[in-house]
Amino acid sequence: MTFHVYNTLTREKVPFTPLEEGKVRMYNCGPTVYGRPHIGNYRSFLFADLLRRWLEYLGYQVDQVMNITDVGHLTDDDTADAGGDDKVEAQARREKRDPKEITEGYTAMFLEDMAALGVREPMARPKATEYIDEMVVMVEKLIERGHAYRVEGNVYFDVRSFPEYGKLSGNRVEDLVAGSRVEVNEEKRHPADFALWKSDPAHLMKWETVFGEHGFPGWHMECSAMAKALLGDSIDIHTGGEDNVFPHHECEIAQSACANGTPLAAVWMHAKFLQVDGGKMSKSLGNVYTVPDVVERGFEPRHLRFALLRGHYRTQINFTWAIMEEMRARLENLDEVAVLLHRVVDGESGAADAEAGRSLLGEVISGFESGMNDDLNTPVAIASLEQLRKPLLDGEVGAAVAVDALAFYRRAADALGFIETDKQSADAEVEALIEQRGAAKAAKDWAAADAARDALTALGIELQDTPEGVVWRRR
Ligand code: AMP
Ligand code: ZN
Repeated sequence: MTFHVYNTLTREKVPFTPLEEGKVRMYNCGPTVYGRPHIGNYRSFLFADLLRRWLEYLGYQVDQVMNITDVGHLTDDDTADAGGDDKVEAQARREKRDPKEITEGYTAMFLEDMAALGVREPMARPKATEYIDEMVVMVEKLIERGHAYRVEGNVYFDVRSFPEYGKLSGNRVEDLVAGSRVEVNEEKRHPADFALWKSDPAHLMKWETVFGEHGFPGWHMECSAMAKALLGDSIDIHTGGEDNVFPHHECEIAQSACANGTPLAAVWMHAKFLQVDGGKMSKSLGNVYTVPDVVERGFEPRHLRFALLRGHYRTQINFTWAIMEEMRARLENLDEVAVLLHRVVDGESGAADAEAGRSLLGEVISGFESGMNDDLNTPVAIASLEQLRKPLLDGEVGAAVAVDALAFYRRAADALGFIETDKQSADAEVEALIEQRGAAKAAKDWAAADAARDALTALGIELQDTPEGVVWRRR
């Protein structure tokens, strides 16, 4: 089975064929850095990372770009356009700090969380404020081609100039007006027109351009310009969370197609929102969790990665602390599969017949790959990997099969990013250091005992001396 993906634009699952053989150009909408991203945001970012890893598993070279929105995302952007306050500036006022300090501080936290969650570095992480010139050129092009118009320092996109406007979200321009999902603004030729560039002398982050002295870009324009600058006019895949479908991606599609004369992305993919305690995350309920909140409760970031990827990205998944406990236990079993495979490979256990379990392995590999190829169906793929544990515990796998199974398991773990396949050797290193420390203490060689303890600390190991001996755990 070839890789099939669900395209929001055409509302169907289609075989994935890249524009250029062997290569995939992908743009992922990144965070607006006015706060530390919450675990819901990471569901979208981890989905993008999983997609990239799966494309790499299939042998593609992936040119991946995930932006950082550090200006122009307004508080009303999810319902209307060009209304409300700039999210970054509003936060800067709340914290009584400079917008730049705000975006730099939260960008650092975002990158820290992404690294903790095992996200692979994309080819580029452009910041919107570094692509202002490219945005201006694109807006000028839209004016020149008759798709945009200026009113004083503001520039609006003329939605009636692009008949396909609404195709992605299923919205019709008439309905948008009737449903008042657009701002009433006297300047606009049509109420559904949206801002490409805004003028506001009171805005803190502003640029002098051909449109006037004090302006800043519209959020949608930022992504169109950064995608074009780094990946070109036509890309393979564009992703985001489900709330990005409208207006963000609908507007990006219109702007890019009209400025470049070609559709921006062949496939549009969207992750469904994460629910917490069965509902929307909300500050008033106190359940807007961050990665450090999860770590503080004693979980490893990879437990969270597993919890966020365990469900198919287009289905609703829920987060609770009880689910996190379940995920920890399930992941321990998945880790154990690797430990058991190592043992069979090392001849410490397993079936006498080296070929035992060959057909089981074939089923597991095809179950895993066909699951992932079916629009990243992780529940099916993970369940296939879980099938290996019982036959291994029952001694039904032979050494030759275990060698191949371990090689496959490592590749599968690499695609998913949460299973530890070399835990056994890591554990052996820890045990050896604990033994060294014990021996040094017995010999009253305190320097050597401290050195062993420091080495353990560096590995992220916490020790506890108990009457039953030393107990250790990973931090
Ligand atoms: P923002 O920082 O608001 O621009 O959002 C960054 C990304 O997180 C966007 O792609 C959103 O669609 C996504 N997102 C926001 N909330 C959630 C959630 N609860 N579950 C999944 N994705 C989300
Ligand atoms: Zn975007």
